[in-house]
Order: sequence, then structure tokens, then C-alpha cells
Amino acid sequence: MNMIDRRVSVQRCDDVESQVEVARSFGKLIRPLGAEGDLADVSSVVLKPNVCWAEDWKTGSTTCPQLVLAVVQWLRDLGIDDITLAEGSMVGNDTIQCLDKLGFMELARELDLRVVDLNRDDVVALEVPKPHVFEKMDIARTIAECEYFINMPVMKTHINTLVTVSMKNLKGVISHKWKRKLHFMGLDGGIADLASVATPDLIIVDGLVGQEGQGPLTGTPANAGVLLAGRDPLAVDFATSKAMGFDPLQVKHIAYFAEAAGIDLASFKPDVIGENLDELDIEFEKPSFSLQGVYEGVEILWGDPCSGCAGGLSVALERMQRSGELDIIRKIGGMTVALGKAVDPEPRERLILMGKCQYRNRESGIFIPGCPPPGMIVREMLAKLANVEPKYGSDLFVEEAEELYREEEE
Ligand code: SF4
Repeated sequence: MNMIDRRVSVQRCDDVESQVEVARSFGKLIRPLGAEGDLADVSSVVLKPNVCWAEDWKTGSTTCPQLVLAVVQWLRDLGIDDITLAEGSMVGNDTIQCLDKLGFMELARELDLRVVDLNRDDVVALEVPKPHVFEKMDIARTIAECEYFINMPVMKTHINTLVTVSMKNLKGVISHKWKRKLHFMGLDGGIADLASVATPDLIIVDGLVGQEGQGPLTGTPANAGVLLAGRDPLAVDFATSKAMGFDPLQVKHIAYFAEAAGIDLASFKPDVIGENLDELDIEFEKPSFSLQGVYEGVEILWGDPCSGCAGGLSVALERMQRSGELDIIRKIGGMTVALGKAVDPEPRERLILMGKCQYRNRESGIFIPGCPPPGMIVREMLAKLANVEPKYGSDLFVEEAEELYREEEE
């Protein structure tokens, strides 16, 4: 039986703007892991960065192209010519346009990399060994059948899942339809299922900037100046969560993944090499879920929801506040949002029933499906009350979810 390599290499980068420094830090990061040995007989590699949308790496929401360049140069020095850059951006975004806007397409041309949009790739149905939500998942063929897979997530907070590191970054290897399905049926369990079938050979975490607070899209750049790398997703995500100042046991998808693997997370310890995690001094601000009494004209019916729904709603309301959409809703009499299992509101005007927990009350108001619903969809559905034109396909989202929930009930 192969022993799982629990080592996680950690390295600071003091000047994240300098290509020379990024490459130097990456060299120091990767050397102790001995990954060159794994690659001795490998002729093709797939790199999967995090380009979930078209915001620059300095916002901390996408992978730094300089880090991708350092990895490609390292692979080329090892004699590997056939390198693919593969990503499937989030719902409402076109992967190639995102890659183009952030300079990755130019990088790919200069370095002769193949580029694959994983949202449009052929898929392979893989069986989940110990399912939480899905017994089978459709994974992009480029990932499922590649010779060597390098996952390059960004170190970020997440309003629904607390952190997003290597396991969560795998959402990019499934189609838009499957991304929605993960949100309909249970995001945390779905990520754990996904991580058990789309296994990287190597993970390189980009914490050059990273994102804190209301991440992973609209948070604050964290300027962490750190890189982590390892082979085991559990060890890497555990160590990265700790480096950010969070308790990995509070990250549900990490806990579900460990449970399926028969690992007791309370006594789990990655073998950290390089920098000491406690001395990094890069504590990330947590996502904030303050909702009640914060937004005038928005009544919250709090049914003891988990952070998934609370986080999505908090980000949606904050963005609507800033854009003026909430002002319009106030003028028409405000709205009520019910979330969590422990509340059953009476029907009323402009009542929003948020999340799968409120499915049973769907006849009483406007139902937003998901467990949790993505923040963008929440905002889009609330903003419809202010006559804002939908952009992220919330109608399709609701239609597909209700069909699945009906099937589940039958
Ligand atoms: S639908 Fe319920 S269980 Fe799912 S994220 Fe929302 S509050 Fe949590």
C-alpha cells in the first residue's frame, strides 16, 4: 500500500511583484518535496489555476500569472514540453475571456501551452467511493485522464465555506451545470465528493496576495506573501486553513473529506516543512455574517441558518446597498428574507425564502434554491424586485433546482 505523503512545504515571498522573487520562492518551496522524481517519466502536465472570474491577481481572487510562469519554467527545465493550462470559470463567466483579460492567453501563446476550457470539455463519469451527496460525478476529461495534474488554488476566505483552497478550486473541473448542481444539493458534501475523484498529483497554493473577509470574489486583498505546496489535498487544505488563522475542523468540506477517508481530523497533523505556520503572522479576517438590523427595509427571519446561506445573503445585501438597489426596494416597501430550517413564515408580499431549508415554504413567497444558493444568484433574485435585468441565469438555476428537488421528493 502506498503511504500518503502528508508533507506541506511553506515558503515566504518577500516581493510578490518581482518575477525573480516569485520564481526564487517557488524553487525553495518545491525542492524539499522532491517532486522532480515524480516527474522523471512524465511527458505531459495539466495546470489548473484559479481563474474563477476576470479580476486581477492583485485583488487576491485569481492565481498570479507570474507563479504560473515559474511553474512552467520549472517543468520545461525538467524536459516537459506538453503543458496544458486548463480552467472552467464560474457560472456567468466565459473561461477564455477571463484567461484573456488576465494575461493568461498571452502567456500561453508565448510559452506554447495548450489551453482548455473545462466548462466545455468532454466529461468522464467517475464513481465517488464514499459519497456524501453524489454517487457519480462528471469530471472534465482533460483532468480525469491527464498524466500529471497540478492544482494551483488561491488562499482565500469564502462566505459559504469559510475557506477555499485546493478542494474547492476543483469546482473548475466540472461543467456549469454541475457547478449549479453542487449548490442545489449540498456544497460542502459535494466538494468533498469532488475532491475524492479529481485527485491532483501536486498542489501549489498561491498566497502571494490571497483574499480575506467577504471572499472569494469581493473580499479584501490579504497581502499574505506566502506559498504552500504538497501532494495530499487534506494536508494542504488543513495547513493552509491553519496558516490563515482558522480551525480546519470548522471547514465542513475538509471535515467531510476526512470522514470519507476514515481519518480522525481532531488528531490529524500535516508534516509542515520550511516556514513555521505559527510564525507566518498572516491572520486572515473571517467572513462576516451580520445581517439582522443592519439593512434598513430588510426584515430577516432567522431560522438558525448555517454560514452558507448567511454568508451568501450578507454579500448580496452589501452589494445591493452599494449599488443603490436596496434604495429602490425600500421605496416599494422593503422585503423580508427567511433563511434556515427553524422558521416557517406566513405568506406576504416580497417574501424571499432562501435555501433548500425553505423549500417546504416555497408557496409562501419567492424561493431561491441551493444549499447554499451562490451569492450572485441571491443578489440577482433580490435585485429583480428592483427591476434589475438578470445576468447570471437565475431562472435556469431555479428551474433546474426545483426539478431535482421534485425528483428527490418522489
Ligand atoms: S439551505 Fe439550510 S443547510 Fe443549506 S446552507 Fe442554507 S441554511 Fe445551511
